[in-house]
Amino acid sequence: MPYWPGVVIATPAHSGVGGILSYRSELSLTPGTLVRVPLGAREVLGVVWDCPSEPPDGLTEAQTKAVAGVLDGLPPLNARWRQVVKFAAQYYQRSLGEVALAALPPQLRELDATQLARRLKKRAKAAAAESAPPGEPGGHPLSTEQAEALAALEGASAPVLLYGATGSGKTEVYLRATQDVLQTAVPEGEALTQVLVMVPEINLTPQLEARFRERFEPAFGAGSVVCLHSGMTPAQRLSSWLAAHTGAARIVLGTRMAVFASLPGLRLIVVDEEHDPSYKSQEGARYSARDLAVYRAKVESEALTNPPHPNPLPLAGEGATPRCQVLLGSATPSLESWHAADQGRYLRLAMPGRIGGGALPRLRLVDMNHQPKGTPISPPLLAAMQERIARGEQCLVLLNRRGYAPVLSCDACAWKSECPNCSAFRVFHKLDRTLRCHHCGFTSRVPRACPDCGNLDIAPVGRGTEQIEEQLTSLMLDVKRPDGGPARVARMDADTTRTKGSLEQQLAALHSGEVDVLVGTQMIAKGHDFRRITLVAGLNADSALFASDYRAPERLFALLMQAAGRAGRDAAQSAASEMWVQTWHPTHPLFVALKKHDYPGFAAEQLADREAAGMPPYGAQALLRADARTQQAAQAFLTIAAAQAAGLPHREQITLYPAVPLTIQRVANVERAQLLVESASRGALQRFLAAWQPVLHGCRSAPEAKGLVRWAVDVDPLSI
Ligand code: ADP
Ligand code: ZN
Ligand code: ZN
Repeated sequence: MPYWPGVVIATPAHSGVGGILSYRSELSLTPGTLVRVPLGAREVLGVVWDCPSEPPDGLTEAQTKAVAGVLDGLPPLNARWRQVVKFAAQYYQRSLGEVALAALPPQLRELDATQLARRLKKRAKAAAAESAPPGEPGGHPLSTEQAEALAALEGASAPVLLYGATGSGKTEVYLRATQDVLQTAVPEGEALTQVLVMVPEINLTPQLEARFRERFEPAFGAGSVVCLHSGMTPAQRLSSWLAAHTGAARIVLGTRMAVFASLPGLRLIVVDEEHDPSYKSQEGARYSARDLAVYRAKVESEALTNPPHPNPLPLAGEGATPRCQVLLGSATPSLESWHAADQGRYLRLAMPGRIGGGALPRLRLVDMNHQPKGTPISPPLLAAMQERIARGEQCLVLLNRRGYAPVLSCDACAWKSECPNCSAFRVFHKLDRTLRCHHCGFTSRVPRACPDCGNLDIAPVGRGTEQIEEQLTSLMLDVKRPDGGPARVARMDADTTRTKGSLEQQLAALHSGEVDVLVGTQMIAKGHDFRRITLVAGLNADSALFASDYRAPERLFALLMQAAGRAGRDAAQSAASEMWVQTWHPTHPLFVALKKHDYPGFAAEQLADREAAGMPPYGAQALLRADARTQQAAQAFLTIAAAQAAGLPHREQITLYPAVPLTIQRVANVERAQLLVESASRGALQRFLAAWQPVLHGCRSAPEAKGLVRWAVDVDPLSI
C-alpha cells in the first residue's frame, strides 16, 4: 500500500507553488525526513512534512511521482524545528518551502544518500578521535552582579533581558549559563543538552569564539563547539550543521542564520548584542533572528514540559522542569525588548557595574559652533589625543563613512561624481585612485579633469576614513610614544579587512600596542575587548540626529554607548577614560542622556514618542516594496495593490500609506519604491497580510506595473 508524503521543496519566492507537494512512497516516511524528489526534469532536496496513507483530495496514483531517494542516514528534523520554520514562513509572509530549504546548509542539496552516508561516517570518526577527556570548565570567580544574574536566570520562566553595561562581564554570564546547561543530566536515550549562542557578526568578535572554545573544548571535546555563519565554505557549513543535528556539537556559535540550526537537545539560546540590526535579514524571508529565538525557546520549552511520550522515570538529581531559556544581552537593548521588560513579558536583569569597579568613560562634547571652520579634528580633541599617545595609551576614532571623500566635485561646472546606475554619488578612494559606488559596485579610475568641462580642479567634498587617517598621520608627526618611537595611525574598515586574516592582523596590531590611533567605521565599535584604549572619539554623529528614519536616534545612542564601551576596560585606567563627540547640537537630549550613561531615561523618552505616534513597539508595521524598470511602474504596482486591498479581512484596522520612492531611489538601474502598512494590532496586520498575498500575485500582471522586477513584503522593517 503506497503512502502519499507531502514534501516541501525550495520554490522561487513568488512562484505560487509555495505549499506542500504530494509524492508517492512505498514506505511510510516520518515527518522531518529529508528526501530527494523529482521536480520537472530535475531532482531536488525536500523535507517530508506529513505522510498520509490516503491520497490527498482529487489526486490519483498516476498524477503523482515517486520519491526518488530517502536520506535515511540522517535523523528526521524534529517537530519543534518544523514548527519554527512554519511560523517564520507565516509571520514573514514567505513560502514554507523557501524558508525550510534556506534553513538547511546549501551543500545538503547536492548530496545523495550514499554521499551523505560517507560524510556522516567521516564525522563519526572525527568525533571519536576528539572524544572528551574528563575535565571541569574553568572560569573567573563571579562578581556579585554576575552571580545574582545567574541565580535569577535559573529561576526565570520568561525570556531574560540581560541589561549589562559594556565591560560588566556579560560574556562570563553566557559562559556560566552554557556550562550549567551542558552539565545537566538527561535521561538515557535522550539528546544531550545543547546551547545556541548568536552574535551579530562573528568575524568581528574572534575573541568570543576563542573564549567559548577555551572554556568548553577541554571538558567537552574538540568538536563540542561549532560555528555557523555565511563566511564559512559550503563544506564547513555542512559539517557544522551535521554536528549540531546529530548532537555531536554541544554549542553552536553563529550569526542570524544559526537560529534555524537543527539542535535536538536545545536548552538555551543566547542572543548577544540583541539590539544589533544585523539580526534582521534584508533579503529572502526578512526574518528577525532575535524574535525567532524568543519564539523558538517557547516552542522548545512547551515540548519539554508536555512531551509527547512522557518519560516515566524521574530525572536523577533534577528538581526544575526542563526547559529552553532565551537570554538576550545588551548594554543598549532594542526598544522592543526594553518595552517587553517594562510590561513584565521579559525578565530584566541589570548589571550596571564594570568588572573591577572601573568607571564608564566620561562624555566630552565638543561644540563645533565654536571651533575653527573646516577642522575635522577640533583642537581640544587633538590635544587630548596627543597627550594620551605620549602616555602610551591608545585612541579610537569613529567615522561612519569609508573612502577618502563621499563626493568629488568640479569647481567650474556642476559635475559631481554621480553613479550612472544609482541615485547616489560614487565615493573617492584615494589609495587606488578610484571612484566607487557603494551601492552597485561600479568603479572607475578618477578622471584627471572634469569629464564635463575639462577643468583640472576637481576636489573632494566631505571626509571619509581614508582622509581622517591621512590627516591624523600628519597631525601626529611630532608626537612621540613613551618608547620614543613615532605615533602610529592605522585604519580599519570594510576596505582594509577584505582579505582573509587581515581583520585578525589589525586587531592583533592594536592589542600588541603597535598602533596608537585606530580610525574606522562602526566595525571598530563592536564587542572587542581592548585593554589600553582610554579615548574614543565620534566625528560625525549629527547626521543621525535629524534623519527621517525614526530608529536613527536609537541606533546612534547604541553605537556611541558601544564605542564608549571600548574605552577604559582596564579598571586602572578607567577613571581617566573619555568618549569625545564632536557635534553642532551639544544640547540635543540624546547627548544629555548619553552624558549620564542613562539608557533607561533615553529609552523612556523614545518609547513615549513612539507611543504617541502609534509606532513600534506600540503598533505593528510592514513594508510592501517594489523594484521596477521605472519609478512609475514600481509605484503603480504598490498603488494598485493598495486599491485591491479593499474588502480584505481586517482592512478597516489597517492604514495603507501612499507609495513613495526609497531614499536612494535607484540602485543598479532599478527603481525602488515602498508602501508602509500599519496597524495598532499585530494580529490584524498578520491576517491582513496573509489575505493580501494572492492579491499581490495578481497585481504583478497589471498593465500599469509593466517593468516590475520584483516585490517583497518586509514584516517589522528596521528602516522605513
Ligand atoms: P561585556 O561583554 O559585558 O562587555 P566582558 O564579558 O567582555 O564584558 O567582560 C569584560 C572583561 O572582564 C573581560 O576581559 C573578562 O574576561 C573580564 N571578566 C568578566 N567577568 C569577570 C570576573 N568575574 N572576574 C574577573 N574578570 C572578569
Ligand atoms: Zn566641470
Ligand atoms: Zn551605483
